[in-house]
Amino acid sequence: MDITDIRRQFPILERTMCDKPLVYLDNAATMQAPQRVLRAIEEAYTRRRANVHRGVHTLSQEATDAMEHSREVARAFLNATSIEEIIFTRGTTEGLNLVASSYGQLLDEGDEVIVTAMEHHSNIVPWQLLARRRGIVVKVVPIDAEGRLCLDAYKQLFTPRTRLVSVCHASNVLGTVNPVAEMAAIAHSHGAVICVDGAQGAPHTRIDVQALDCDFYALSSHKMYGPTGIGILYGRRELLEQMPPYQGGGEMIGHVSFAGTTWADLPYKFEAGTPDYVGAAAFASAVEFINEVGIDNIATHEHDLLVHATEQMLTIPGMRIFGTAPGKCGVISFLIGNAHHYDTGLFLDKMGFAVRTGHHCAQPLMDVLGIEGTVRASFGVYNTYDEVDSFIAALRRIAPILNQ
Ligand code: PLP
Repeated sequence: MDITDIRRQFPILERTMCDKPLVYLDNAATMQAPQRVLRAIEEAYTRRRANVHRGVHTLSQEATDAMEHSREVARAFLNATSIEEIIFTRGTTEGLNLVASSYGQLLDEGDEVIVTAMEHHSNIVPWQLLARRRGIVVKVVPIDAEGRLCLDAYKQLFTPRTRLVSVCHASNVLGTVNPVAEMAAIAHSHGAVICVDGAQGAPHTRIDVQALDCDFYALSSHKMYGPTGIGILYGRRELLEQMPPYQGGGEMIGHVSFAGTTWADLPYKFEAGTPDYVGAAAFASAVEFINEVGIDNIATHEHDLLVHATEQMLTIPGMRIFGTAPGKCGVISFLIGNAHHYDTGLFLDKMGFAVRTGHHCAQPLMDVLGIEGTVRASFGVYNTYDEVDSFIAALRRIAPILNQ
């Protein structure tokens, strides 16, 4: 893998911040987009801007073809069996809300949903809303000191009322990669379905929804070198067929009359309104970028950076790293001494490093860890050893101030 060549494809990486070269380490929040994605957006606006699916004119057909090509690219990326199982959403959050709202209508008062202590708010609040609407019970799998899920506790949570498990493939704070296939097998043995929040899984590891045997898998394009505002929800066909629509409007109908309305076939039943057909077309370019570089090469590179950075960081006085599970992905959450995470982030910003600070939309996890927030550095394919070394040097410089 030629990182210099890869970096050349990302114009934003040429920017400076406070007169220093930009070192972008906020990839878990949003990744940068390569030139081909930017070109795909420009091309869609300049050459193919027309509403999709209902037009007989050529522009509309071209826009439709680009969007449906992207659906096929997403299907192949996830190894879903058919494009009927690939729903375009605004992102992971909308995908999870779709499952909670729509599959949630098949649940009854007293039915149970299992989530984990390391979930992003996107995989907590939709279930809490469902609890208010339908009286379901939300149960939580605890984590151990390294940030791994306690699988024994997970198994103990099942009862005859357990209907659904919703778990992140990887934690955006701890980097822990969860044993999704094993969890799916356990859920299925209890007659429950499993929904995976793939926001931090899809960009870093090979996804095969058939091998994982998951029932739903949600992802965000902007965390995968793609445009913002678009994502995918994979859903197992038999379940999608049973589920009521999520939103009503154009595109999702078979026939509308005041006497009653029928729904469109899958996947359109879940795609009300004009879709983000520009984003959808550009998402295909992002996946093609990942495929060309190779997801296994990306995973290996990010793992090497993670190991190198972690080893060096642990030699810095006052350093505390949250999340040390074996096999974790390229996310390092840390605090130095008793310094507030914002202060650390501000120092780093002035030195050219873009890191994220705060609770990372995982306040319940912060409560478990007994902290308010962390500083988080997260890697993408374009990050280099030199960048990691300069990051470590910057941390060494500010650590004495932060440790005071
Ligand atoms: N789940 C996880 C684990 C995340 O890291 C994020 C975003 O940071 C989300 C869900 C929400 O993703 P989005 O804001 O793209 O919908």
